[in-house]
Amino acid sequence: MQPVRVRFAPSPTGALHIGGVRTALYNYLLAKKTNGTMILRIEDTDQTRFVPGAEAYIIKSLAWVGIKIDEGVGQGGPHAPYRQSERKLLYKQYAQKLIDEGNAYYAFDTEEELEAMRNRLKATGSSHQQYSATTRMMMDNSLTLSESEVQQKLKAGYPYVIRLKVPESEEISLSDLIRGEVNVHSSQIDDKVLMKSDGMPTYHLANVVDDYLMRITHVIRGEEWLPSAPLHVLLYRFLGWEKQMPQFAHLPLLLKPDGNGKLSKRDADKAGFPLFPLNWVDPTTNELSKGFCESGYLPDALINFLAFLGWNPGTEKEIFSLSELIDAFTVERIGKAGARFDILKAQWFNQQYIKAKSNTDLAAFLLTSLPQGITCSAEKAAKICGVLKERVTFTHDFATQARFFFEAPTEYDQHVTSKKWNDDAIRVLTAYKQTLSSIKELTAEMAKTTLEDVTTSLGISTGKILQALRVSITGAGSGPDLMLSMEIMGSEEVVSRIDRALSTLKKV
Ligand code: GLU
Repeated sequence: MQPVRVRFAPSPTGALHIGGVRTALYNYLLAKKTNGTMILRIEDTDQTRFVPGAEAYIIKSLAWVGIKIDEGVGQGGPHAPYRQSERKLLYKQYAQKLIDEGNAYYAFDTEEELEAMRNRLKATGSSHQQYSATTRMMMDNSLTLSESEVQQKLKAGYPYVIRLKVPESEEISLSDLIRGEVNVHSSQIDDKVLMKSDGMPTYHLANVVDDYLMRITHVIRGEEWLPSAPLHVLLYRFLGWEKQMPQFAHLPLLLKPDGNGKLSKRDADKAGFPLFPLNWVDPTTNELSKGFCESGYLPDALINFLAFLGWNPGTEKEIFSLSELIDAFTVERIGKAGARFDILKAQWFNQQYIKAKSNTDLAAFLLTSLPQGITCSAEKAAKICGVLKERVTFTHDFATQARFFFEAPTEYDQHVTSKKWNDDAIRVLTAYKQTLSSIKELTAEMAKTTLEDVTTSLGISTGKILQALRVSITGAGSGPDLMLSMEIMGSEEVVSRIDRALSTLKKV
């Protein structure tokens, strides 16, 4: 068996969409599963769509989610360069070979002539207005001009493109690892441009040439490229590379959260969730697109979520580390049906990954986002995170939810005080704070037994005053484990907060 070589081949036309990250992930999983090679190729032949910063963004995003590149841009390798604009000269000879063997031709048509052709065909009611087997003999190209006319035009520097000469009537079939046998009639394919007038190849030519030269064994890419695949099959055949043609796997579409239609940035913006791995500021409009990273997602949670958008392990197990995904992954278990982009599921994965992290690791999220002027030891931050982690969805939630540890409440939730702040509560809290003030090193266990001793001696049920205690300490009616929170604050702080609540709330 040939060693697996896969490539992720984005175009640097903007931020890397999350669907692109999924494509990269599936390529990576197959490469790692088979001890193969993961290649990053930058397809930047369309200079009109080139966006500065996009390539660096792609590389940074892949690194953030933990997808390591073995060969490619930023890494080098035996097939360098891996940026298509730097391989420009190489493509020319293959286009020439196609011309020499009658499988491609020069086309000199101007924009106006092309437009006129489309209008003419429209006027005759033709549904087919493409440059193809049915129209090419009416156009200005090396099929209709004499050899000497062509040479003259070329010498005179007339702008031209090179087009593929698609067979007139033939069934083109390919086998896709996900979709099975795909058949397309050649009349459905137009004579695609292979080389543009600026001397750059188009995506189709550069993609096929590079996949061949880079010895790619599997092309795993989004479903939107499926219509191009028959054309690529023709190119492999015309270039004599049919035997080396990679296996194709076209991934299912990502659908809107409600499953109706293709996921779009508009939907994401409207619902307020990110669609890009990292924040991206568009260099021309300055518009900010939010990233999963900056929105408080952990990279391994995002990867786990993305892995399940189109693939499943065939078991009930849902939590998979990257190395477990590598073990479990097979292309055969990728489905055809569109995958619903359920952001709530992404949040669920994030919660699971946050919960599974050690308190010491989580402390960093708190320490880096504490409000100015607040200091906290790493040890205390870890304890706070330990108390909060069951209740947190995003990494920034730690800082928000930890606020009460650093700031005594100035207001008390009225829903709670109106129901729970009564004589019994006042009696218990008065006695409780007195007992607590004699304790130096308060533990959660001590806080609990002391409270029970006080309520028992006063003949009041602990359950009835617990919310009053919580509101006096945190200002809120609900929150993390109260006894553990009190241990973290220390008895002095707890006593002072109860004191303050007793004097503030008594007046209400
Ligand atoms: N450059 C194409 C893209 O931007 C790559 C498609 C392919 O993988 O063949 O998605």
